Amino acid sequence: MEHLKGKTAIVTGASRGIGEATARFLASQGVKVLLAARSAQVIETLAAEICANGGEASAFACDVSDHSAVLALVAQAKRRFARLDILVNNAGLIDPIARIADSSPEAWGHCLDVNVKGVYHGLHYAIPVMLEQGGGTIINLSSGAANSSLEGWSHYCASKAAVARLTGVAQKEYAADGLRVIGLSPGTVATDMQSSIKASGINPVSRLAPSSHISPEWVAQAIAYLCGPDGDEFAGGDFSLKTSEGRQRVGLPLADRLPA
Ligand code: NAP
Repeated sequence: MEHLKGKTAIVTGASRGIGEATARFLASQGVKVLLAARSAQVIETLAAEICANGGEASAFACDVSDHSAVLALVAQAKRRFARLDILVNNAGLIDPIARIADSSPEAWGHCLDVNVKGVYHGLHYAIPVMLEQGGGTIINLSSGAANSSLEGWSHYCASKAAVARLTGVAQKEYAADGLRVIGLSPGTVATDMQSSIKASGINPVSRLAPSSHISPEWVAQAIAYLCGPDGDEFAGGDFSLKTSEGRQRVGLPLADRLPA
């Protein structure tokens, strides 16, 4: 992926799952990566491992629900790498899973703070930096839950629907200035999040066979693909890895066992 060489990126939620795989993959393609998550020790160890393998990476502890922490994160990327070409707004959570009347208002609000406001904070602080340098790409992790209603997931469905609208609005506002904002709906992915979903037993997604989930490394490849020129046509919307067409474009095996 020649288009990635020498680029700089922030990946939020980089301590495990999709974010970890994305940080590793982008670094392997010559991207200088700033890993962000709340687990400082974990991302520091990961960044050190990436550097030991010939990549360039550093870590910055950050809670994306706190706008001042995201401001500091973007400032650190500028300080460390002089520019910011790619932001992957990946940090997200689904716990606690509960039907609306059983849910905790505090926990419900916290999910929105991380999944929606976290993405807004990333857009808000990264866009001016990208505009100043003439362009950039922001990938927002979306989900099939943005367009479907699943029991126990009112917080998550509401949050991902909001992220889809943020993607669209940001693209409308800044496309003419060289920015691309692209959503990625990966399908179900074998991470800790799917373990929580399975443990809940609450809706059809929790009953999917673990073998139907794709690997986080595939999602990382899709993110890298969308950061290149082929991502243009998906700007403002959600690129789906659940379809055979989506997987074919990224060069992944076809969707022969699609999750529900
Ligand atoms: P995961 O394994 O649970 O990892 C979540 C990541 O988000 C962790 O690195 C966590 O790091 C970070 N995080 C959580 N709260 C945070 C906060 N307040 N500030 C900063 N970082 C925070 O989840 P995943 O499956 O990789 O999911 C990543 C993204 O993909 C999410 O947006 C999710 O909604 C989306 N997605 C996942 C699936 C799936 O099937 N797995 C499907 C569709 C979409 P710390 O705990 O260290 O902060």
